[in-house]
Amino acid sequence: MTHTKILIQTYGCQMNVYDTEIIKRLLYPLGYTFTSAAKSADIILINTCAIREKAEQKVFSYLGRLALMKQNRANLIIGVCGCIAQNDGKKIINRSPCVDFVVGTHALFHLPSILDQVRKKTNNQNVFTDFYEKLDELDPKQEPILESNISSFVTIIRGCNNYCSYCVVPFVRGPEMSRSPEAILEEIEIKVSKGTREITLLGQNVNSYGKRENLLSFVQLLKRINKIDNLYRIRFTTSHPKDFNDDLIHAFVHLEKLCFHIHLPVQSGSNNILKQMNRKYSRDDYLKKIERLKQECPDICITSDFIVGFPGETQKDFEDTLSLIRTVKYDSLFAFQYSDRYVAPSYHYKQKVDESLKRERLMELLSVQSDNTLRRNERFIGQTVQVLVEGKSKRNPGQWTGRTSGNKIVNFIAPNLNKDIHASLIDVFIEEACAHSLRGVIA
Ligand code: SAM
Ligand code: SF4
Repeated sequence: MTHTKILIQTYGCQMNVYDTEIIKRLLYPLGYTFTSAAKSADIILINTCAIREKAEQKVFSYLGRLALMKQNRANLIIGVCGCIAQNDGKKIINRSPCVDFVVGTHALFHLPSILDQVRKKTNNQNVFTDFYEKLDELDPKQEPILESNISSFVTIIRGCNNYCSYCVVPFVRGPEMSRSPEAILEEIEIKVSKGTREITLLGQNVNSYGKRENLLSFVQLLKRINKIDNLYRIRFTTSHPKDFNDDLIHAFVHLEKLCFHIHLPVQSGSNNILKQMNRKYSRDDYLKKIERLKQECPDICITSDFIVGFPGETQKDFEDTLSLIRTVKYDSLFAFQYSDRYVAPSYHYKQKVDESLKRERLMELLSVQSDNTLRRNERFIGQTVQVLVEGKSKRNPGQWTGRTSGNKIVNFIAPNLNKDIHASLIDVFIEEACAHSLRGVIA
């Protein structure tokens, strides 16, 4: 047994948050403990994101600070894992000599033996970036799940086969690999037994779940999860619009635990750009699917991702994007300036858009959406909505906070309440709509 303390610094998406949990579950049974203070850590592990250049810059600026710290603490071990690790391997150590080892997205599952080698210096290897045909399953019974969150992530499918032309994910996370339904169900059941009430299923394209391995379909998996006792809510992210289908629309109608929210990233409203992005659907295909969805589930909350300034994006292409946003009327969206990634095919596309024009377009897009967001929030005024209570509001301890099924944040007061409503489903009467949240009073 070791009593080594590890600080894990996590950057990037929910999948990285989940991978950090995997690291903890791998190392905790071996006696490692975790800290959030760099001062007291024996090992600092950085779980990195390579999706945009900005995410990468953050990691290297953090490594710069760690290099200074290491000057006075020669025994401090620094490791880099995740997507940048997979992508850049040895280059990271060349650029930041304070880094002792690098572990890619698949080799992560071998972290216990890697740490052992690194600490005992049993060989000279310091870069571990092999891809594997199959990834290990952690036995949820043996590995205690450390955090008992109301809301937890569970990855159901890793990797991606879609090769959107701007994206590093297929290169850094490898091809699609689904976990078995048994492993997923068992993990959710254990999380629920420890207090989780809402689960978010993760995958780059959840609709591909089980296809390669000939397992259950994604909707069949949802039906099985829907039967788990004491689990209140199921969410998922992300569904690729090309594979979004009527089966999933029906699941929203028939599975009572499936939240009324879909994140359906469109990226652009221009056919020309969608083609260059290799998204494999047209503006029309996308809008027809949204229309079908709204017909069957009129109250569903819809969110999306957009990239502005993709190479060759003209003013007309950008206006097509704005008009799509006005047509769909999203509840909210994430928008990013296109970022050149050297492994992604679009790196070689000509007609790069100026940084200042990208910024301008981003601002304009966000301002068009801010009207939508407010209007979509205002529709709840005067209604009673069900909220999964996450706890007392951090900003105002006199208020409670939680989320609706549509993923809207609700801050509410509960006068004369004399019971603990933490982790409960509570009806809240909505009195006010704000830019990013709703306000109300317990019903
Ligand atoms: N698999 C998801 C999908 O297909 O929508 C997206 C995963 S990616 C981690 C999250 C978002 O990052 C994408 O939807 C896209 O908007 C954005 N993104 C990916 N690559 C990017 C790039 N090179 N530049 C800017 N944004 C990018
Ligand atoms: Fe990247 Fe496209 Fe795969 Fe999403 S579907 S992870 S954007 S390649």
